[in-house]
Amino acid sequence: MEPISWPYPVVRLKPGKEELLAKGHPWVYSGALAAPPTAPLARLADASGNVLGVGTASPVSPLAVRLFRREDQPLDEAFFRQRLERALEARRMLGLDGPEAGCRWVFGEGDLLPGLVVDRYAQALVVQVGTAGLEALRPVWWPVLQELGRAAGISVYVERSQGGRKEEGLEPVNRILKGSLGGPVDIREGAALLSVDLLKGQKTGFFLDQREHRLALGRISSGCRVLNAFGYTGGFSIHAGLGGAAEVATLDSSGPALDQAGRDWARNGLDPDRHVRMEGDAFELMRTLEAASYDRVIVDPPALAKQRKDLDKAFKAYKDLIRLGARATAPGGILGCFSCSRHLDRARFQEAAWTALLEAGREAQVLAHLGQPMDHPYALNHPEGAYLKGLWLRVI
Ligand code: SAH
Repeated sequence: MEPISWPYPVVRLKPGKEELLAKGHPWVYSGALAAPPTAPLARLADASGNVLGVGTASPVSPLAVRLFRREDQPLDEAFFRQRLERALEARRMLGLDGPEAGCRWVFGEGDLLPGLVVDRYAQALVVQVGTAGLEALRPVWWPVLQELGRAAGISVYVERSQGGRKEEGLEPVNRILKGSLGGPVDIREGAALLSVDLLKGQKTGFFLDQREHRLALGRISSGCRVLNAFGYTGGFSIHAGLGGAAEVATLDSSGPALDQAGRDWARNGLDPDRHVRMEGDAFELMRTLEAASYDRVIVDPPALAKQRKDLDKAFKAYKDLIRLGARATAPGGILGCFSCSRHLDRARFQEAAWTALLEAGREAQVLAHLGQPMDHPYALNHPEGAYLKGLWLRVI
C-alpha cells in the first residue's frame, strides 16, 4: 500500500466536541465528527477548521480518529523513530529488555502509538497492527522498526491479529514477516525458561503482562500445593515448581497449551510426578475439586467482558470463579485472582471478589492490589489503557 501523502484530509469535529480532546484524550468517536473520515489518515480540526492534531482514521469503526500528535505535522519516519526509540529506551532503563527477554516493546496508546503492539521474545518480534491507518503507514514505520530490531539482535519478525482489526475492516493476519522459525522461541523469566509459540500461541504467543505475578508466586510456593487455573502454557506453574512447590496442577481448556506446559515443566528440570494436568472448563472443573485442598490458587481467566454490554454477565462470571478459587484455598492460603477486561474497573472487580468471598463463607485479607507491569504503561489521559487488575488475597 502506498503511503497517503501529506497533507492528509481534514476531518472536522461538530461544534463543542473538543472537550475530551482538550483533556488530552487521544480518541474521537464517530458521533463527534461533522462527517465520517474518508481516508485512513486525518488532520483533525475543530468546527472552525483549526487543526488540533494528526492521527489515524476509520470510515467504518465507531472509534473514528486516534490522535498520534497534536501538531499539524505528518506521521513520517522521523516521528516514528522518535516514538519507537522513546518506547525502547523506557524498557531498557527499567532493565526489562535483553537478548533472552520477553518484553513488550510498544503498547499502543500507552506509548503514544495508538493501535500498534510490538512484543519481543528473545531474537523475535511479534507485531500487531490494529488500524487501517497503521496499515497505510506501514512503509514508514516498518523500516524503522527493523532498524531498531537489527541493533537489538532481532532476526525474526512475526505478525499476529489484534482484536481491533475487525472493527477497522481489516482481515486477520498470522504470518512471518521476515526470517524463519524452527518452532517455539525460548525466553527467560527469572529462573524459568519458557517457550513461546509465536504463530500458534494465543495473542502474540504469551501473556507477558503477568510476569511480575508469576515471579511473586515463585517466591511464596515452597512446600505448597498449587492450583493454576487458566494456566495456559504453565508460566505460573513452572515458577511455583522452581520455588519448591510440592505439587502443581495446571488447569486449562486448551490441550496444546497444556502439552506445552508439561514439556516446559520437564525442561526446567522439574519432576513430572509433581505436575498435574487438568484439561477442561474451569467453571466446571473447579466445582469438582476438593474444598480447601490447595495452599496457593491462581485464577487468571481471559477477558470475560469483551464489550461494555457484557459487563453484568462478566461480573457474575468473575464472582463465580473467585468463589470457586476461594473454596479451593486452604485456610491461611493465598488466592491470586485477576481480570484483564478493561470494561470492568477496579472497584467492580473488588466488589466481585468481596461478593465471592461472602458467598464462599470465607474471609480474606487484601495483601496487594495488582496491575500491569512497566512494559505495559498507559497514558494518564487514556485511562482505558489500564486493563489488568488483580488481588493477592489471604483466605482465612
Ligand atoms: N495465566 C496465564 C495466562 C492465561 S490466559 C499465563 O500466565 O500465561 C487465559 C487462559 O484461559 C488461556 O490459556 C485459555 O486457553 C484459557 N481458557 C479460556 N476459557 C477457559 C475455560 N472456560 N476453562 C479453562 N480455561 C479456559
